[in-house]
Amino acid sequence: MNYSRMQADVLVLGAGLAGMRAAWAAAQAGPGLSVVLVSAQAGPSGSSFANPNNMLGMQVPRTDQETESLVREVQDLARPGRVDPRLVDILAREARDRYEDLRGLGLRFKGDGQGVVQRQAGCFCPDQAGAVIFTHLAQAHAAFSARVQDLGVRQLPGLRVRELVPGRGNGVSVAGAWLESRSDRSLVLARAKAVVLALGGPAPLFSFNLCRGQGQAWGDSYAILEAAGARLINAGYLQFLWGETVSGAFWSLDELGRAGVLVRTPDGRSRKVRDLLDKTEFERLASLAEARRQHCPAAYDRPDADLDRFAAGLLDSRGVLKVRDPEGVWRAVAPLAHAGNGGARVDEWGRTGVDGLYACGECASGMHGANRVGGAMVLATQVFGRRAGEEAARRAMGRALPLVGRVWPESVLGERGREDAGDFLRLAWLKENMQRHAVLGGRPGLSGFHARLAEIQGLGGPDFDLALRSARAVTSALVQEAARPARTCSSITAAA
Ligand SMILES: Cc1cc2nc3c(=O)[nH]c(=O)nc-3n(C[C@H](O)[C@H](O)[C@H](O)COP(=O)(O)OP(=O)(O)OC[C@H]3O[C@@H](n4cnc5c(N)ncnc54)[C@H](O)[C@@H]3O)c2cc1C
Repeated sequence: MNYSRMQADVLVLGAGLAGMRAAWAAAQAGPGLSVVLVSAQAGPSGSSFANPNNMLGMQVPRTDQETESLVREVQDLARPGRVDPRLVDILAREARDRYEDLRGLGLRFKGDGQGVVQRQAGCFCPDQAGAVIFTHLAQAHAAFSARVQDLGVRQLPGLRVRELVPGRGNGVSVAGAWLESRSDRSLVLARAKAVVLALGGPAPLFSFNLCRGQGQAWGDSYAILEAAGARLINAGYLQFLWGETVSGAFWSLDELGRAGVLVRTPDGRSRKVRDLLDKTEFERLASLAEARRQHCPAAYDRPDADLDRFAAGLLDSRGVLKVRDPEGVWRAVAPLAHAGNGGARVDEWGRTGVDGLYACGECASGMHGANRVGGAMVLATQVFGRRAGEEAARRAMGRALPLVGRVWPESVLGERGREDAGDFLRLAWLKENMQRHAVLGGRPGLSGFHARLAEIQGLGGPDFDLALRSARAVTSALVQEAARPARTCSSITAAA
């Protein structure tokens, strides 16, 4: 098999907010080091820059009191997921410096023109107007790209990361990555002294997701990390927002409480919500509405999650809920995958426990758990992207290129010869079933689907294989979570 070779001191994989920040920090911390930034395409990509909202909120506490309060909020929300208090502390304390970095880059913040940057409350954190919002994401991408360019970072677009390359010797280590050209599918072996993985989260694994820009993110970071020996945490905790399946427009669960609204029940009948619940249960759910309004994504292990469970009980076999508003318009809505809160368990410098491998952004976790304060993910990309890049540069300085442990990329080459035209259909099947069974903490049929994934692993081509292994990381975490003691769950009464 032919392949070309390249090498770098620091290899950053993924050019969203986290990867860009890591490359910037690596080049700044190690002038003279060769820093290479790999991305799937040349322009704006990922949830960071190809985001349909064209704006992003970022938590930035102004005072010590607000910093303490953010730390408390993040920790309180993390249950039942796992959070590392050291990372939460760093996240909140370094927010102001990272915000100043973004201002220095010239990002446009809401309110800038009037001289006072606007602040608003983030999801799950209604009492504190702690988030600033930047807009014009394509311009933000251009500003990051210019900064890394100025610092001498070599940007390599048009490459898909296939797998990480193990280092030679005892212990688990990474010595580079196998990259595949997206134009001609040729392979590149990129060797590096340190690798920073910033490939984003698992939302693209679901048929209804909010990650626009297909063909530039595949949701395979969990598979790549696990195969390299990194440990995942919080992998089952994705954020889901209810929205229209076609447009992605936000849809509020409040709609279910409006007079005159009809829903299509799984048996195909159109019913009033009031007729599906007894009076006590209807009133109990109605009393949760105010708490539910304080966050767009569904919560884990909080009382108002019962509202989402109730709506989820109405999903049809495709995972879609049909709702007719009082004006008579039917809408197809569903839980749309938005962002993951899980990823590689990292320490305060983005180290994964695998020698030479760092992770940051949406594929790293520990700075948030099951639920996440709105605006804390963008903050995490900047705080821990910078730290991972800086530490990767420190590691690379004065060190020789590590030897590669396994020259042939078994998972890529072994499967490339195989006909993978069927992967298109297999991937569609996978995403549909993730949507049916793996949303909102797990739905009926989850464990059977999870077992099926194990049975068919290895049967498709490389695209399917990566997606399947990432999907398994999510379903495995969900199956374990489901084994916890039962939670309250609203169900449709016999009247339905
Ligand atoms: C609609 C929407 C709104 C959001 N709003 C907010 C908000 O207001 N505040 C907040 O904190 N968070 C928000 N989030 C979440 C947040 O935007 C993301 O979690 C964050 O931007 C992720 O940054 P990242 O750099 O880790 O990943 P991404 O931005 O997803 O970047 C990943 C990069 O890796 C590349 N890539 C992926 N796989 C491969 C591969 N195999 N090979 C090569 N390249 C690959 C992608 O092309 C991309 O360049 C929102 C998310 C969405 C979808």
